[in-house]
Amino acid sequence: MNFALPAELGDIRAAVADLCSDFPGEYWRALEPDGYPDAFVEALTKAGWLAALIPEEYGGGGLDVAAACVILEEINASGCNAAACHAQMYTMGTLLRHGSSAQKERYLPQIASGGLRLQAFGVTEPGAGSDTTKIATTAERMSNGYTIRGQKIWTSRAEHSDLMLLLARTRAPEEVERKTDGLSVFLVDMRAAGDALEIRPIRTMLNHATTEIFFDGVEIPHDALVGEEGRGFEYILDGMNVERILIASECIGRWFVAKASSYASERAVFGRPIGANQGVQFPIARAYAAVEAASLVRHKAAWLFDEGLPCGAEANTAKLLASEASWQAANACLDAHGGYGFAAEYDVERKFRETRLYSVAPISNNLVLAYLGQHVLGMPRSY
Ligand SMILES: Cc1cc2nc3c(=O)[nH]c(=O)nc-3n(C[C@H](O)[C@H](O)[C@H](O)COP(=O)(O)OP(=O)(O)OC[C@H]3O[C@@H](n4cnc5c(N)ncnc54)[C@H](O)[C@@H]3O)c2cc1C
Repeated sequence: MNFALPAELGDIRAAVADLCSDFPGEYWRALEPDGYPDAFVEALTKAGWLAALIPEEYGGGGLDVAAACVILEEINASGCNAAACHAQMYTMGTLLRHGSSAQKERYLPQIASGGLRLQAFGVTEPGAGSDTTKIATTAERMSNGYTIRGQKIWTSRAEHSDLMLLLARTRAPEEVERKTDGLSVFLVDMRAAGDALEIRPIRTMLNHATTEIFFDGVEIPHDALVGEEGRGFEYILDGMNVERILIASECIGRWFVAKASSYASERAVFGRPIGANQGVQFPIARAYAAVEAASLVRHKAAWLFDEGLPCGAEANTAKLLASEASWQAANACLDAHGGYGFAAEYDVERKFRETRLYSVAPISNNLVLAYLGQHVLGMPRSY
């Protein structure tokens, strides 16, 4: 076993940190409550980081998931917010694994160069929630393509994306054998949808550019279908491990641990640094330990994935531990800052709000626990 970070990953980390230093706390604060970090996303795209997982033959970086993890982790560790653009990394896999050569040739080079943004991922619906098999948005096959009708909710970054990866129903639930059948994935060009597609922003406790989307007869061509009709659930599921690993990396709470320990070492009350008190020091040390443990499982999950080995248990464990560790670190950091933790100019309250999301989305930790309980430990199904 070798736990040393390979030199090339260290180089990536340093380069991403350097780019992020151009986008300090002031930049992110000025965007609150709902401005999109266009300049940041553009800089990441220009540097090639958002195309890391696109193969070189299509103009991408041709890097593996271990490298993508370092990119997202470093963005958040630098105080920036990877959630503004992370979806491109994990939705890409669906196109890569299941898209036709024509789709890949048409879209991937443009996504890699930044000419097109694939930032929107439309799965969740109000009536289905965590039970994706209950989605009701339909894609009806017509002579010249498909017509989409229905509603998605929490489709983040839709206003800042050209393309959306959409999961829709191509057969009614009563026509299919298994509840996971009859769903299909489409690559929808939102620019061509006209008035039939309405995007409504949702204000949330964090700046996440999330929206609800209404499809009122959106017409898309036949070649918008990704892979085979009816196999969409399977395609979305097989991208889940990468999504879990990338999200775990993004929410590793290094920013909070560094911010808290540095503040606790400087801030003096009762004539000594507050960090000299164990009541302040130990929660930060505990959070550090939790973050390190989560980080190791995440590295293992990424390694398994890149080796083509099963990684469901590790990917889910990493997402669970990393989201909990970052929340633990966020609380330790806020407590260490006392009242100042609530002042926007310290960035703690902003990062605190951003971090709370990870135990709920893109998948709630209850569902992650159910996966571990049922699929890894073999206990009875709860749903
Ligand atoms: C800011 C934000 C951005 C998002 N971005 C996207 C996006 O880009 N694309 C997209 O498709 N979705 C997105 N989502 C949706 C997100 O994936 C869902 O919110 C999440 O999966 C939970 O679904 P839900 O909100 O419908 O909760 P529900 O399914 O209604 O669940 C509510 C609560 O009940 C619990 N629960 C439900 N069933 C069970 C069970 N069987 N056992 C135990 N507990 C259970 C859940 O864990 C949760 O705590 C986003 C959400 C947010 C808040």
